[in-house]
Amino acid sequence: MLDRLPEYIDPVALAEKRALISGRIAVSNLQRLAESLYTDEGTIFIELEFGKEDSLFKITGKISADLKLKCQNCLDAIVWPVELAVKLCVLSSIDLADKLPEDFEPLLFEGEKLPLKNLVEDEILLDIPGFPKHEHDCFSLLLKHNAAGKSESASSDAKQAKPNPFSVLSKLKNSGEL
Ligand SMILES: [Zn+2]
Repeated sequence: MLDRLPEYIDPVALAEKRALISGRIAVSNLQRLAESLYTDEGTIFIELEFGKEDSLFKITGKISADLKLKCQNCLDAIVWPVELAVKLCVLSSIDLADKLPEDFEPLLFEGEKLPLKNLVEDEILLDIPGFPKHEHDCFSLLLKHNAAGKSESASSDAKQAKPNPFSVLSKLKNSGEL
């Protein structure tokens, strides 16, 4: 779902028109991002402004979303609000990188239209932590929880009263068959 957004963009043509695009993308649409999350539910809101300044084509604006990251300690969800400022400068070749204004990231554009969702996805992937963890000590909570689970299953084993192989052996001994 790309709601009110073009699928492909020509950033130079949009900058010449000083276009403003805004809309929504479902998180499930961004496969690389969705795979790294706890859930692919949710929506990303986009507002991008294309402009030209000192013969440079620029994209500014914001991307926001409420994502659920997967904690790398306990694998549970971490609610992660994304509110990032987009500051991209369109470069036709990486050789022009020295023309990049301060605070701007390069967006390589060699004439072929770019999939908008890839651009949005890259921006978000750069913004979210690569190894997300809960702020609280979820790992020791997890250990406690597991330990509690284990002792429970141990006691249920005891209730089943499996025959002890040694007691069988001692019976045999007592009956003089060994
Ligand atoms: Zn955690």
